[in-house]
Amino acid sequence: MDIIVQKYGGSSLAEDAKLCAVAHRIAETRRNGTGLVVVVSAMGNTTSRLLAHAGRLNATPEHRELDMLLAAGEQKSASLLSLALHDLGIEAVALTGAQAGVRTCNAHLNARIRSVDPTRMRSEVAAGRVVVVAGFQGAGPTGDITTLGRGGSDTTAVAIAAAVGASRCEIYSDVDGVYTADPRVVPEASRLRMLSLTEMKTLAHHGSGVLNERAVDYAIEHGVTIHARRAHGDGGQTIVRTEQGTGGRTRIAGIATHGELLRIDFTELADRAALSELLDEYDSFAPELALGGRGLYLLPTDQLADVPGLCAAIEARCGDGVRVHGTVASVSAVGRQAGRDPSTLAFAQQLLQAQDITVHHAFATEHAVTCLVAEEMRATAAQTFHTGFRIADTGVADVA
Ligand code: ASP
Ligand code: MG
Repeated sequence: MDIIVQKYGGSSLAEDAKLCAVAHRIAETRRNGTGLVVVVSAMGNTTSRLLAHAGRLNATPEHRELDMLLAAGEQKSASLLSLALHDLGIEAVALTGAQAGVRTCNAHLNARIRSVDPTRMRSEVAAGRVVVVAGFQGAGPTGDITTLGRGGSDTTAVAIAAAVGASRCEIYSDVDGVYTADPRVVPEASRLRMLSLTEMKTLAHHGSGVLNERAVDYAIEHGVTIHARRAHGDGGQTIVRTEQGTGGRTRIAGIATHGELLRIDFTELADRAALSELLDEYDSFAPELALGGRGLYLLPTDQLADVPGLCAAIEARCGDGVRVHGTVASVSAVGRQAGRDPSTLAFAQQLLQAQDITVHHAFATEHAVTCLVAEEMRATAAQTFHTGFRIADTGVADVA
């Protein structure tokens, strides 16, 4: 039987009415004869509330115990959605990540999926049931519950799509796809019809919140095509897949921005080992999400457990070669091989300088050029890039 995987994010399930609307959509697809595995996130801001609750009882909670707590958010969604489907006369079964066959490493709060055994899911689908899987979780080597890091249920969906051999992986959120920039910041941004996984990974790395970076990594590794869609109301979609064809000219596909980045500069004099150790210690979720150029770390402060504590520890332990700045914003122009040609970086800086925006630092990586600007210039800088790189004119964007 043809199987599709659908993932619904927390905001798409935030209230009963939304959850019921999702159930209706699933029921309709199921009645057309399609086999379905549905992956769900915790409703609304449940995960943050659970974390805060733990924090009120213990300032330094054990990660293993936190995983036990956080996983409950997704389990609640899975159970309620399954019950709502039953109410519509649709057979469905809710499974925890472990029951669905998701196995991970042992890194509590930040585990990586090692394998997915599709046996149970396949037999449930063959028996005519919609399988509703709690996202963001799995079982570690000892069988203990693990979670995958914030936003991790996208990764669950992609991993399950690969394991069951799904014909498509649809990721539903409250936007109808990936835009050339965040439309709340750049009103003239347009939806991209198609995007390569590599470009998506780079956009996600530089702050685009539509798809989780690790999920995109997993999709690259396993060749999974993602359809990003809106859960409620109509709209188009963005298809994100392995690059088709080779060569082609350099292009800028979109603009990503990131705010509240703690900037740490270091030279050869720095004690790099001590610095990495500290970053591991204070980074609560996903250390590899740090941005950086040469001699520079940019840490998303929303991922850090204790920013003042980290700053003080760096000053005390990392030697003279390290300097901690305040927070900055980054603005990146992302596209296939965008960072290869040095003139692109120079052009990016000129665009901002022409608008009297001070560029604190600029660097290129393979598929992006990035400028650091003051926090309050973030939106203006994004708009300047969007216009200056003529993104709407490249023929890449396809306005819905
Ligand atoms: N509920 C988790 C979070 O809020 C996982 C997810 O939404 O993907 O991070
Ligand atoms: Mg969530």
